[in-house]
Amino acid sequence: MTDSGDLLVVLENVNKHFGDLHVLKDINLAVARGEVVVVIGPSGGGKSTLCRTINRLETIDGGTISLDGRPLPAEGKALAGLRADVGMVFQSFNLFAHKTILQNVTLGPVKVRKIAKADAEREALELLERVGIAAQAQKYPAQLSGGQQQRAAIARALAMKPKLMLFDEPTSALDPEMVSEVLEVMTSLARDGMTMIVVTHEMGFARSAAQRVVFMADGQIVEENTPTEFFTGARTERARDFLSKIL
Ligand code: ADP
Ligand code: MG
Repeated sequence: MTDSGDLLVVLENVNKHFGDLHVLKDINLAVARGEVVVVIGPSGGGKSTLCRTINRLETIDGGTISLDGRPLPAEGKALAGLRADVGMVFQSFNLFAHKTILQNVTLGPVKVRKIAKADAEREALELLERVGIAAQAQKYPAQLSGGQQQRAAIARALAMKPKLMLFDEPTSALDPEMVSEVLEVMTSLARDGMTMIVVTHEMGFARSAAQRVVFMADGQIVEENTPTEFFTGARTERARDFLSKIL
């Protein structure tokens, strides 16, 4: 898979251990530019670790990961550049509590991308508009609802103009009535052509926005399929068993 063509992310034989625990076992995954992949599977299966290896929050002990045709750098300046290319949204928002929403969104562009503050603020306001919380720009995270905070976190990630967006269970810490506002933002991002890897159990999102579902368990990719095929006719017992518990 050296000719990456329109592949944005390529993982080949990726392995990761935490001590004796083999958390990622020979993971092979290629994501095309503009593709939306939903990763689903039981807790402890390695989904978060997979996301964290792709933006090098975790190192790997075997295999290769490349982004846009280049292998991930191990450390240093190149790594900071890579981080800017990969936006990540976590379950727990992770906004800076003592900065306003606007400051949260402009911080990365000003510090890392060296954008002039006025330009960064203008872009940030456009992004906050896009995720529907421009009116909250001067507030602090604690003054926002969970759904608004998560939309701010998405705007903050987008402000770095990433090539890839990773979402790790972005709606699982939200009150039920706030889930849809976040999924709507993610769906519109998908429609706009953003390449996305999304760990979620939200079937509706998978069906409406994803091209592919990857089912992960025990550190392995057990099954991959289109959302329709996966939800109506999973091939493996493991996946069917999982689906019977969450549907
Ligand atoms: P998932 O996101 O699918 O629930 P994780 O990637 O969080 O799975 O975890 C996979 C396995 O790795 C689990 O057994 C978890 O306990 C373990 N694990 C995750 N992070 C660490 C860590 N930093 N140190 C040791 N074990 C870890
Ligand atoms: Mg997880």
